Formats: sequence, C-alpha cells, structure tokens
Amino acid sequence: MLSIDEARDVVLGATRPLPPESVPLAEALDRILAAPVTAVYDVPRFVNSAMDGFALRAGPAGRTLQIVGESRAGAPASTTVGPGDAVRISTGAAVPEGADAVVMVERTREQDGGVHVEVETTAGQNLRHPGEDMREGTVVIAPGARIGPAELGVAANAGVATLRCFRRPRVVVLATGDELVPPGAPLGPGQIHDSNALTLAALARRAGAEVAHAGEVPDTPEATEAAVRAALTMADVLLCSGGVSVGAHDHVKPALAAAGVEERFWRVALRPGKPTWFGVRRQQLAFGLPGNPVSAMVTFLLFARPALLALQGADPGTPRERKRLTRAVGRHAGRDECVRVSLDGAEATPTGPQDSHVLTSMLGADALALVPRGEGELPAGSEVEVERLPR
Ligand code: AMP
Ligand code: MG
Repeated sequence: MLSIDEARDVVLGATRPLPPESVPLAEALDRILAAPVTAVYDVPRFVNSAMDGFALRAGPAGRTLQIVGESRAGAPASTTVGPGDAVRISTGAAVPEGADAVVMVERTREQDGGVHVEVETTAGQNLRHPGEDMREGTVVIAPGARIGPAELGVAANAGVATLRCFRRPRVVVLATGDELVPPGAPLGPGQIHDSNALTLAALARRAGAEVAHAGEVPDTPEATEAAVRAALTMADVLLCSGGVSVGAHDHVKPALAAAGVEERFWRVALRPGKPTWFGVRRQQLAFGLPGNPVSAMVTFLLFARPALLALQGADPGTPRERKRLTRAVGRHAGRDECVRVSLDGAEATPTGPQDSHVLTSMLGADALALVPRGEGELPAGSEVEVERLPR
C-alpha cells in the first residue's frame, strides 16, 4: 500500500495545468494567472495633484495669486500657470502647464478673485509623478499569482481588461449508494441522506473548480457505468464516493475501467481512507473516494484538492507544521492516521470521536494531524505534523 505522500506524488505526477484562457477582470477573482500582467503605460500617466488646493509656481509665503482656471479630476485646465497665477485643482487632476507645486486648500484664503497663499511652497510639493506606481512595460503581477481584490485593481490600473488565467477544472461528483436520498427527502427503511455529494462539491468549489454535476447513483453496474461515462464527457476531474471497497455492491472500479480510466493506485496506508482509488484517462483524473463521510472529505483534502490546484496552475503544496497533542491518540499498526484537530497556538486537540462515520468530527477542525502508524497510543504532549484545512 502506498503512503499518503507516495499516493499524492502519483496524483500530482499525473496532473498538468489546464490550458489558459482569457478572462474579463470582473470574472477573474480567485483565478490563477497564466501570463504576466504588464503595465500598458506609466501609472500615474500624468503629473497630478495629491491634494485639493491650488497649482502654482513654488515661492515664498504670503503671496496673493490670481486664479486663472480650474483643473478637475477628468477635466484638465487648458491654462498655463504664470508667476502670479494659480489654478484651482482637485486631487488626481492634471497639474497644468507652468505649475511646479500644489498648495493645499487649507493653507490658502480666497479673496477678491485671488488666492492668498499662507505658506512657502517648494518645487514638486504635493505632486504625483508618472510611473510612481507602475512603469510602462514592467511586469506588475507574475504568473502563478492568485487573483485577489488588489490584483484586480492593479490590473485595471495597468491598462488591462482581460487576464490570461488557467482554465478552472470542471468536476462531476457521483455519490454512489442505494441507501442514499437527497437532503430533505423522506427516509425509507435503511436509507440515509447523502452528504458526500454536498461536501465534495463544496470542497471542490472552494478549491477553485466548477462543479458541473453532483448527485446520487444507485448501486448497479449499469447505473454506475452510465453515470461514469456521462461524467467523463464533461469532467476534467471525476469524484466518486462509495463503492470502492470489496463489497458485493461496489461497482465503481469496474465502471471506471469500462469507461477507459486506467488505475494508478487503489488503497493507501491511511485511516480513514484506505480504499481510495485513483486513475487517469488521458488528461482526465478520476478519484474513487471511500463512502464514509469523513473518509470522503479527508481523502479529497489529501489527494483531490492538490490535483485541483495543480490543474489551475496553483501551488498544490500542503505545508506542514509541528504541533503538540493535548491528548493521547490511538495509533494504527499499519496505517498513518489523519486525526481532525482544533489548533490553539502550538497545541492540537482532537475534535472528538474519530470514527470515519462521525462527520461532526469535521466541525471545528482546523487541521488534520498526521499520526504515524505504530504500536500503542501516541501520548499527550507528543509532537505531530499537521496540515491545515483550507478555509
Ligand atoms: P461504501 O464506501 O459505499 O461502502 O460506504 C461506506 C459507508 O459510507 C456506508 O455506511 C455508507 O452508507 C456511507 N456513505 C456512502 N456514501 C455516502 C454519502 N454520499 N453520504 C453519506 N454517507 C455515505
Ligand atoms: Mg456503498
């Protein structure tokens, strides 16, 4: 059986970034940049005022100047400023020809069509110069950056209207199980509400994917194969849950094989999540995640999320930190365990019972603690590596 790290390496080894596409700025939030953003012109483009006040020629305090025009943001003055002149100016407005400083309005007094300047002004005072923010032709955002609010604003200021971003992966979630009914539907004998379709679709969206479909599939070979084939007509990544163990009603692996998905691994030395399956069909990735709700979430986080990030050209890295366990945890002799923990400073506290059907153990979890396989308990106070859960 592969270790967690080995299995993750297999997944990432099979994953290439999706091709870039042009995305209008208004739709580019959280996308990953595929090509640099270069400033089309100097920003600021023109000398402009940092203050509301008067543009003038620098000089001593106590002068009274004639107001010869106004320069507003978006409406520059056409006048030239001579030695005895001032032009009323707003923040961001172009500084008119002839002026070399701006005095703030609070240091002036208007009288009889003129303006009295109470303070000395020096050349360059309160002026913003071209290129102070960005220089024409320079790269202002490098490829690989995640586009956040600041990146959007910088791109707009740089004179750009669209960004080259990696395509978002399209995901289909198939929750297999005859026992499953959609949330809210009445439960017959032995039935349960499907939670995996929701949690996996939500996790995929948070990882930047577009979820094309998420729903339940009954446990027949025919239904499973039909659903898998339909999914592969649209999905970059297929997430199946359930049906990957060795039970008589586990049809996911044969269905994937029949649809041309080649197995890369089945089973990881992991708890929860041992039966995890992964395969590829050309550039498409398919994950057979275990049906137990905690196992499905944990194995998504360990294996599918890094793949979704890598498909978008993002760093799939899952940084680890060392924390101290506040409580003893049981160890499995042959498999590494992902214990859901809350974090407080340097301490990690298990969120409660850790069985793979206890989904409430994911509530309040900040991280997965990686408890290495071994004999007996890992005592309280032991250091463990943790991987933080994404937002
Ligand atoms: P399986 O991996 O199909 O053997 O399922 C293992 C356990 O997970 C069983 O108790 C299932 O009822 C449960 N399970 C499977 N799929 C889901 C789902 N989508 N939502 C909630 N529980 C599920
Ligand atoms: Mg099942």
